[in-house]
Amino acid sequence: MSLLSRELPPTAGLPLQAGDFLPGGGDLCAILAEQLGTPPLQLTCSGTHALLIALRTLRRRAPQRDTVILPAYTCPLVPIAVHSLGLRIQLCDTRRDHFDFDPVALHAAADARTLAIIPTHLGGRIADVDRACAIAHRVGAWVIEDAAQALGARVAGNSVGLRGDIGFFSLAAGKGLSLLEGGLLLTHDEALRAALIEQAAGSTPFSLRWELTRSLQLLGLAACYRPSLLSLVYGNPLRRALRSGDLEAAVGDVFPLDIPQHRVSRWRQNVGARAAQRLPAFLQAARLRALQLRVQLESLPAVEVVDGMPGTLGTWPMLMLLLPSERARDKALSALWQRGLGVSRMFIHALPDYAYLRGIVADADVPNARDFAARCLTVGNSPWLTHEDTREIVKVLARQ
Ligand SMILES: *Cc1c(COP(=O)(O)O)cnc(C)c1O
Repeated sequence: MSLLSRELPPTAGLPLQAGDFLPGGGDLCAILAEQLGTPPLQLTCSGTHALLIALRTLRRRAPQRDTVILPAYTCPLVPIAVHSLGLRIQLCDTRRDHFDFDPVALHAAADARTLAIIPTHLGGRIADVDRACAIAHRVGAWVIEDAAQALGARVAGNSVGLRGDIGFFSLAAGKGLSLLEGGLLLTHDEALRAALIEQAAGSTPFSLRWELTRSLQLLGLAACYRPSLLSLVYGNPLRRALRSGDLEAAVGDVFPLDIPQHRVSRWRQNVGARAAQRLPAFLQAARLRALQLRVQLESLPAVEVVDGMPGTLGTWPMLMLLLPSERARDKALSALWQRGLGVSRMFIHALPDYAYLRGIVADADVPNARDFAARCLTVGNSPWLTHEDTREIVKVLARQ
């Protein structure tokens, strides 16, 4: 492949425009809260930082509770955050062919030590938060909705993140609306909101060096986030990682173990505020594209498109597909992953299977999560995906 071959992103991020960098974009949190119909949102350094603030706040309310229940297939940053606070990680297996908790296992896992349960809206698909709440509240624990990949998703007309006790979104690169790095906290509970704000105020300094780095990276992302240049920052490093057999590096699963906790500058907020004006139309267009793509993919006998709770209005940064076996998935990927079509994988492993997380995540019997990791691939739902691209993808998947 040449240095600058056409490259599609693996997820549908909202492309930034030059005009987004002009001053006077307004208040990012206020604009998003208005769009999503939420109570006031709280901006954080990252989604992971939002989770840290949430866990610290809950721990202060219940110091005797020390355990957090996670789905066994989720972003490695989640157990890293839990571990960094000295809390115990309890993995719960997912249900078969899915990323959401197995309800029987979740029921058995929750007890008097449980501080929080973290249902996760993976790939913009909605997890069963009501069930997690019923199980958590019965034992006196809280629910934190991980909506890192689901900004803009709705359940019964309301934003995700409000049915649980606390919710958070990510504004990282590649996740819908991006400040390069950023996060948002929300809760329907006013007392809890005040406690979250107080918790963050005490522990979030401003670092000029950090902010300058992130601002430059944001400019770089804005410049390169287009099919003509994306191979520079995404496709070429991906192919290099794949050639050396480093799958975790290929999808960006390897994170530092210390979590940055800085304030986001007005300047980056301003960029996000301007871009946010285009978010509702962008999400709506993505939804229409995804529904068409889903029809085509579901007509293939070997493909199952992973969906969330019925009757919900999720977002579609990508489509998660399950193939009949790991072998079939790997065969499809060997034909598609390096092609610049935005086909990739979600997280490489179930959490116990990351070598670098040993010492943080204990081994656990989580066969469904492992099976999901082994059979899943993703199709990026970017605005640049053409009918020809789709045809190429479908052609390969039809052979599995
Ligand atoms: C990205 C992600 C996070 C962490 O968000 P950051 O903003 O990158 O810190 C947490 N959970 C899930 C499911 C994610 O995809």
